[in-house]
Amino acid sequence: MEKCKLCLVRDMADKADIYEYVKKTRAMLSEKEKASDELYEERLNVCMSCGSLLAGTCAKCGCYVEIRAASASSHCPVSKW
Ligand code: SF4
Repeated sequence: MEKCKLCLVRDMADKADIYEYVKKTRAMLSEKEKASDELYEERLNVCMSCGSLLAGTCAKCGCYVEIRAASASSHCPVSKW
């Protein structure tokens, strides 16, 4: 089965363990550090329409975008958000 390149880990059943890690990491951020739910979803929507998203990871920096987007002070490596 071909893996969806433009998917987040939350949408991939075989990455459930990684998604649990994503959720725990986001939950550990303080309210000050955490991007708002609205900002988080805006960022992920940009990633989902970006050619650099590869099965939940960013080809530009190698990170899981759902973790990178979780911090308010974080940014896209090519300034898309
Ligand atoms: S972090 Fe930036 S470059 Fe990476 S997938 Fe998201 S929008 Fe694309």
